[in-house]
Amino acid sequence: MRLHTANDVRMKVRRLREGHGYIMTVEIISVGTEILLGNIVNTNAAYLAEKCAAIGLSCYYQEVVGDNEERLTGILQTALARADVVLLSGGLGPTQDDLTKETAAKVLGRELYLHEPSKAAIADFFRKRGTEITENNWKQAMVPEGCIVVDNPNGTAPGIIMEDKGRHVLLMPGPPNELIPMFENAMIPYLNSLQPGIIYSQTVKVCGVGESKVEAMVEDLIREQSNPTIATYAKTGEVHLRVTARAADEKEAKKLVKPYVKELKGRFGNHVYTTQEEVTLEKAVIDLLLANHLTVGTVESCTGGLLAARLINVPGVSEVFKTGYITYSNKSKRKLLGIKKTMLEKYGAVSPQIAKEMAKGAALFGKADVTVGITGVAGPDGGSEEKPVGLVYIACNVCGRINVKECHFSGNRMKIRESSVSSALSLMRESILAYYSEVTFGKKS
Ligand code: ATP
Ligand code: MG
Repeated sequence: MRLHTANDVRMKVRRLREGHGYIMTVEIISVGTEILLGNIVNTNAAYLAEKCAAIGLSCYYQEVVGDNEERLTGILQTALARADVVLLSGGLGPTQDDLTKETAAKVLGRELYLHEPSKAAIADFFRKRGTEITENNWKQAMVPEGCIVVDNPNGTAPGIIMEDKGRHVLLMPGPPNELIPMFENAMIPYLNSLQPGIIYSQTVKVCGVGESKVEAMVEDLIREQSNPTIATYAKTGEVHLRVTARAADEKEAKKLVKPYVKELKGRFGNHVYTTQEEVTLEKAVIDLLLANHLTVGTVESCTGGLLAARLINVPGVSEVFKTGYITYSNKSKRKLLGIKKTMLEKYGAVSPQIAKEMAKGAALFGKADVTVGITGVAGPDGGSEEKPVGLVYIACNVCGRINVKECHFSGNRMKIRESSVSSALSLMRESILAYYSEVTFGKKS
């Protein structure tokens, strides 16, 4: 919708106030020749789009434009003619090719002036790092007249918010470690303040169930959705279901979301590993280990340490993690884990038997309660008719009880390796939960 005249703006504000369900639209412009050339992947756009959806903004267009004033001017004018909110990322740095702020200011007819607090923040940033400030850095303290300046604690370029005839232009730095905290801490509250009521969402994270099965299991809920809405997001080896409600205040929104979260938990049972935004699958596994006073060890072949790395990413893992082996060759499987040569010859390295031996070896030599062995064909070569690329065996030992899972993954080498790690984490969860439920029901031998 075009919002050019003062009358348009008044109409919009009235509709917003009266709660006529006007959904604001957002357009995302990623600035940078590096993105156009494919030198970097545009993760900022994906991140911003997902976040905007979560706060109830509709995104109809995304663009990538190089560091070029003329083309950026054109695309910004187009975006301003059709969206309520325009998000720009990149090109706020100190160098000549960083021209997003200058161009946006020109498009909105504003002069730049030296913003003293930003100048002080830049000086402080350099002083703390003990590095010399170069003259071109002061360019970052220049801001458009009448804008809101947003702090950037992780870098030198501040964020900028400009309002113009009912439209909102938000400028953010390109580096994700600067953009993400700025968007979460300052831009989301600002965008929320533009909309009637509030948006509240909760995510139900499911592992160990395929994407299409999850979709089928919630198809009826999605079909009937209004407020709250339910959206599914497929991740490697897991699916997230986000329930989002709009209401006058948080209490009311939570009340709308709660029965749906309960329903989803009921449908997916033990496959729900968390409903907390910040909890990852590896964190859920580590928490389970901590809660049960269990230690963990890994033995990896085709994943080459990826599983250990994901577990070790979780703060507090030192309480539980013992040893991570990478036994890529048959010789290392024999030497480090004591797997018999005859077994390797009989079954082959990629087999349920060897996965099991790997998990057992890690328990024996690495002295851990829960151990996982992963062996598979990650490709692109090395597959056969009997053992094709993507065939992976994962064994999980919990205090002597071993589960083995056969998986068939598709995709390239990295994708197969990442899928293997996610499946291993799911299997760890399942195996630990099964172990304790059997203990509780007195079935443990
Ligand atoms: P700087 O002060 O670092 O120059 P900037 O705001 O000018 O920041 P750019 O110069 O456009 O941003 O990009 C700097 C770096 O940020 C890029 O090299 C890249 O690593 C990262 N980056 C930029 N845009 C994106 C994007 N859309 N997605 C992911 N990363 C990005
Ligand atoms: Mg730059």
